[in-house]
Amino acid sequence: MTNDINFLTGIQDPGLQLDKEGAETIDDQTKIIHLVKTGECRCPVCGRPMLKNGFRHRPVVITALSVAGVKTILMIKKQQYICKPSTKCPQTVTKIATIKGISRGCRIANNVKQFIIKDLHRNISQKELAHNYYVSASTVARTIDTLENTFVPEKDWLPATIAFDDFKSGQFADSGMSMLLMNPTNHRTIDIIKSRNSRYLKQYFYRHFTRRARCAVRLIVVDLYQPYRSLIKELFPHARIIADHFHIVAQAYRALQAVRIKVMNRYGHGTHEYRVLKRFWKLLLQKIAHLDNIHHYPRRNFRGAWLSDSEVIDRLLSMSPELQIAYDYYQTLIEAVDQGQAAELTALLQRKLTNLPKQLQKVQRTLRQHQEEIIRSFQYQLTNGPIEGTNNKIKVIKRTAYGFRNFFRFRIRILIALKNSHIMVQAPIITRKTSPSKLVA
Ligand SMILES: [Zn+2]
Repeated sequence: MTNDINFLTGIQDPGLQLDKEGAETIDDQTKIIHLVKTGECRCPVCGRPMLKNGFRHRPVVITALSVAGVKTILMIKKQQYICKPSTKCPQTVTKIATIKGISRGCRIANNVKQFIIKDLHRNISQKELAHNYYVSASTVARTIDTLENTFVPEKDWLPATIAFDDFKSGQFADSGMSMLLMNPTNHRTIDIIKSRNSRYLKQYFYRHFTRRARCAVRLIVVDLYQPYRSLIKELFPHARIIADHFHIVAQAYRALQAVRIKVMNRYGHGTHEYRVLKRFWKLLLQKIAHLDNIHHYPRRNFRGAWLSDSEVIDRLLSMSPELQIAYDYYQTLIEAVDQGQAAELTALLQRKLTNLPKQLQKVQRTLRQHQEEIIRSFQYQLTNGPIEGTNNKIKVIKRTAYGFRNFFRFRIRILIALKNSHIMVQAPIITRKTSPSKLVA
């Protein structure tokens, strides 16, 4: 019979037996399995076998894994034991049977919690998880909280190269932005930091990493945000900064878009120029080397003229000298960054500010400020590219699990969902052999 209970509930306690009074009853939605827990028990004081002393007055009610998709409740009668006073055992000792696979004082079987944890990587909300396992949402929350100790970064270790990037996290940080800390060489997320605020970051690194770990960091890939520079110097005394390619290009990208829109608006709504500048914006952003100059198509926007993509670009650029300059700047920059051409970049950054449209002057200043970091980045094939991909995943998680009020749970779900996050690779929870009691202890 014990085997059947094991098969039905996944609880492997040899002392569990089906109760003779009513093996199982089913009402509409729920299956109830009546069980008895008995067997030998030794006295914790003297070590001798204890006497059986009837059953606990009321059976315990335990939520188990559903059986064939039906909510399943275990009603377990627990044996009581007694050890009468003797020379070895001066006082009366009493005990109630415990059940392997169910934690003391807990009304949910350990394997239920284990399955909940296993399902955390799936893109479903906490509420839905609770529903699937017939437990309350707060049980799911508490189950996630038990992972707290498993999900701390290693205090004494950081990789030689790290990358930072911020992402929108909503209400958790004052700025609405949190930080992703990643190892860009193997694309593993190391941790998620609640706020990108400098003071918070400082606290975070001092609290979570030893000086030795921080000193081991040699390279840091980061965006062009100036306030991080002094912070990085302080926290990572041996690290050199590499500007992230994505953010370098994004600067010029945004400036080019701004110039295009300005030119559009200058021509005015309803004009031919307005329409084509709006229609072909993607073409403007395409790398010049990838532009098609072979195939010609009739273009409705150009009165049916047969034009190749590069001829369309020529026509767009002829509409505004400013747009021509911005386009040229953008293309030169992406090529220099793509090919790692330091000389080209230096030449670009030497262009006079006054010769550039206003939107690009700001970009030029920012890039000049970080010139050294940009050129250094050409030596290494490192970018925050993988972080950008991770950001998209986080967005999906945020959308499904709209109920995140607790940053800690949000962080855990992200780190679990990113299967190659450093913590997931290190943590024992993905290895199958870990016993359930260890898991939820
Ligand atoms: Zn005893």
